[in-house]
Amino acid sequence: MRKTLYLKFVLGYIIFGFFGFVVVATFVSSMTLEHLKREKADALYKEATLIANTYASDLYNSETSLDTVKNQLDALDTYLSATIWIINPSGRMVLDSSAPVDLENEVVIENFDPTVTSGSYYTVGTFFDTFNEQMLSVFAPITSDFKVKGYVVIHMPMLSIEGSANSLLNISYVLLVILFLLSLIILIFFTEMVYLPLRKITEATEQYASGNMHYEFQVDSEDEIGYLAASLSYMASEIARSEDDQKKFVANVSHDFRSPLTSIKGYLEAMLDGTIPPEMHEKYLNIVLNETERLTKLTNGLLTLNNLNTKGMLLDRIDFDLNPVIRNIAASFEGTCRSKTIGIELVLTGDTMYVNADIGKIQQVLYNLIDNAIKFSHHDSAIKIETNEKNNKVFISVKDSGIGIPKEDLKLIWDRFYKSDSSRGKDKKGTGLGLSITKEIIHAHGEHINVISTQDVGSEFIFSLPKSEDEDED
Ligand code: ADP
Repeated sequence: MRKTLYLKFVLGYIIFGFFGFVVVATFVSSMTLEHLKREKADALYKEATLIANTYASDLYNSETSLDTVKNQLDALDTYLSATIWIINPSGRMVLDSSAPVDLENEVVIENFDPTVTSGSYYTVGTFFDTFNEQMLSVFAPITSDFKVKGYVVIHMPMLSIEGSANSLLNISYVLLVILFLLSLIILIFFTEMVYLPLRKITEATEQYASGNMHYEFQVDSEDEIGYLAASLSYMASEIARSEDDQKKFVANVSHDFRSPLTSIKGYLEAMLDGTIPPEMHEKYLNIVLNETERLTKLTNGLLTLNNLNTKGMLLDRIDFDLNPVIRNIAASFEGTCRSKTIGIELVLTGDTMYVNADIGKIQQVLYNLIDNAIKFSHHDSAIKIETNEKNNKVFISVKDSGIGIPKEDLKLIWDRFYKSDSSRGKDKKGTGLGLSITKEIIHAHGEHINVISTQDVGSEFIFSLPKSEDEDED
């Protein structure tokens, strides 16, 4: 495809040149000749009329001699480079500027017919076979007493007119060549602006198609092609990113599955071979249980996300009071909070706050956010859960004063399996799925979730929910 596009353009260029030549060689050539012929005929007709009205009519009125007129016509013959005749209507030659006056030998033009010009004042041909070459012959009648006494005929060889036409034609050819060369600019422009960028884009697509998503290319133009290249490059970087995410994801999943499995296996083997004495079994079986819970959590998270992606989310929306839901979930963290001496402060608007949402999913969202807030909080700190009402929406905020999120990670925390490096070490239980599930749930409700966070200061997650439309319940 690449080659043919260029070839097509070059072919178009050659065809343009060829047709340009054909047009000049045919139309322009015939038009120039026709124009010059007419122009010459016009000029000669003026001369012929002048001669007819002056010398020739004087001659017929016997006011001047044949020799005087001959002399005058000879001068004009040289000046015009044309042969001037004065002939009678019968065709008898009275005077020929190209031959001496010879009264003895009468010259008669056979078949002379003054109507040969058929309405015009000139004719092209051999003039009743008197010439061996093509001549332009211009007629002007000599009239006296309203009668045609004779004709002034001026002959000019067509060859001389064709010579002038050819000179003009040569100029046209030169112009055509200049134009052809100038239009090379279009070809160069096309090559630079379209063909080369397209080649780069095609090369890039080939690279992408063969799996090299990290292939980089640069098209520095701000037109549609530049836009196309930028979009393509963006698309590739997105695919590359998602591929990288996928790899990271598999690595994370395997890592997250492997570590609990390794510890379960280790404890069970130690119990079986007696390394762990039977009286200690309960303690280690509890550890094993915790690890299996973690595995279950991970598997559930994966399943939830998978379902969200494949089916979209089916929500079971009902109107419910949000306040007790928040209180209950906060209460469920009491044990964890006590061990880290973290306090949860609830600042809830209104005695009741009815929202329209899927209660189970919103519980999951609150659970994830509070769980994170506690995980990433320092000991002896406080977490604030606050609700606010605005424009028929309820804004729920979960705010901690923990480790915060680095600026560069803020966009990434919503990605599946994203766990910041710092949390990976500390928070072994995290799956990196919580926030992406949370975001999907909130988006499925047609609402938004946002985070404001400063590293080493704390984080605040705020999401909105639609208030219940039934005002009575509020
Ligand atoms: P995890 O199961 O690891 O908590 P999440 O998707 O819930 O997964 O969170 C992803 C990452 O976002 C966490 O690993 C952590 O780095 C960061 N994060 C989430 N909530 C907070 C918070 N309240 N404070 C600081 N970092 C947080």
